[in-house]
Amino acid sequence: MTKTYDLLAIGAGSGGLSVAQRAAEHGARCAIAEVHPGALGGTCVNRGCVPKKVMWFAAEIARCISDAPAYGFAVAPAACDFAALRARRDEYVHGINGWYRTYLADSDIDLLAGAARFVDSHTVEVGGERYRAGHVVIATGGAPVVPDLPGAELGITSDGFFEMESLPRRVAVVGAGYIAVELAGILNALGSDVTLLLRHEQFLRSFDAMLRETLMEEMVNSGVTVVPKSQAASIRAATDGTLDLICAGGEILPGLDRLIWAIGRRPNSAGLGLEVAGVALDEHGFIPVDDFQNTNVPGVYALGDITGRAALTPVAIAAGRRLADRLFGGRPERRLPYENIPTAVFSHPPIGTVGLTEEQARATHGDAVKVYQSCFKPMYYAPMEAGHQACMKLVTVGAHEKIVGCHIIGPGADEMLQGFAVAIRMGATKADFDDTVAIHPTSAEELVTMR
Ligand code: FAD
Ligand code: NDP
Repeated sequence: MTKTYDLLAIGAGSGGLSVAQRAAEHGARCAIAEVHPGALGGTCVNRGCVPKKVMWFAAEIARCISDAPAYGFAVAPAACDFAALRARRDEYVHGINGWYRTYLADSDIDLLAGAARFVDSHTVEVGGERYRAGHVVIATGGAPVVPDLPGAELGITSDGFFEMESLPRRVAVVGAGYIAVELAGILNALGSDVTLLLRHEQFLRSFDAMLRETLMEEMVNSGVTVVPKSQAASIRAATDGTLDLICAGGEILPGLDRLIWAIGRRPNSAGLGLEVAGVALDEHGFIPVDDFQNTNVPGVYALGDITGRAALTPVAIAAGRRLADRLFGGRPERRLPYENIPTAVFSHPPIGTVGLTEEQARATHGDAVKVYQSCFKPMYYAPMEAGHQACMKLVTVGAHEKIVGCHIIGPGADEMLQGFAVAIRMGATKADFDDTVAIHPTSAEELVTMR
């Protein structure tokens, strides 16, 4: 007999778990289908944010060790025991997987193990069984892109980065987004010889120019070799087991232990039987949704990375919770607005950014834009010759100088931004920032003392 639910989520990642959790809290009978039931939590927990942040912390510790002598600690440079780091990281991840398993059981949410496929718009087959649901939520996320080039399979992606058993001595990272700069920064800080290949002049091209220019300078100063305007053409294995990367212009990058593709992610929409359900896809395979996460088929929704919008864990979570509030919580207006989404890049130093870049603001608001910017050496680096710089920018619009963009790069930027994002969401003006008493001595105080 076909089992029936109020809501069935496909994918136990950030989005699928969140929509089912909230719907169950509202009293709905829920199930989640997951093709990897041993890895609950999806990309973020298993191959994304969580293990990445552990590696980023390790990289920060490496930096602290090299800074320590400036503060009077006679600490010798120490190599990272990569295997030990990996074991502890994976143990932490498995703990989260187990926590979710218990949570689902305690919340009476059924976990359906296997790849889900639509049989009709409200019937889904998983592991040979059929399940019906009044509401079906597609939250199947995405996977890293590997280019169609000779020898591309010799490289790895961010998934392979988390499977590495040792630190590569020499590594090339190809790409120009979040993952490329984050992985290049981590590997460099841990001691690898890193080359970052960009097909254009710059990385993070959609970010405010101040952020990407400062990060470029910092990464180069920290020892990352950045090769702009370089297009990978093929990879070949050398007889000593290393790889050669051959670029379109004929240049060769020889002797690589690892090559990491970080050129974007594709949606997990193939094989879901979306054509049977009548769910439309865009030309890249993402599922278009309206402001309420509705697909073109009534009672079928999509959220998270599969929609191709703001591929961030808190976005998938917020969209999922709000959809459940709308469907089962008596709040028909509930939805996630996609403006002013704060985000951090865990580079070295990190970036925190929200709202319009200066370029976007000027394109939209012209001369009504006024920008405040400050660059300085944070006090932490006072006892040292070198050190990261910090840069901050506020983009304001109109006579009341409403803040429409806040961009920070420097130590602590990732933690600093969250509170400022609340203020900006509430419509803060430059005068509100100026009227806020500073916290001294911090880097963050610069944001409320800019002239
Ligand atoms: P996912 O988390 O990908 O979950 C989709 C789930 O669906 C998976 O478990 C998959 O196995 C399952 N699935 C797929 N097809 C089927 C099927 N047919 N049947 C059943 N199950 C299926 N975001 C941040 O906010 N901060 C970060 O620091 C950050 N770092 C990242 C670092 C890396 C290296 C990567 C790759 C991503 C990072 N992200 C980060 C992005 C974040 O991981 C994603 O935005 C988030 O995981 C998306 O959640 P989701 O639910 O849409 O998809
Ligand atoms: P992104 O979309 O961020 O960046 C990929 C970039 O690679 C493109 O923008 C493009 O930049 C470049 N690129 C594309 N194709 C090629 C090619 N053939 N050769 C060389 N370069 C190419 O993708 P990521 O994979 O880095 O990350 C996916 C998403 O995951 C992010 O957008 C983000 O939403 C999320 N994420 C979030 C993190 C966080 O919150 N800290 C961390 C990691 C991921 P260009 O056009 O300039 O060449």
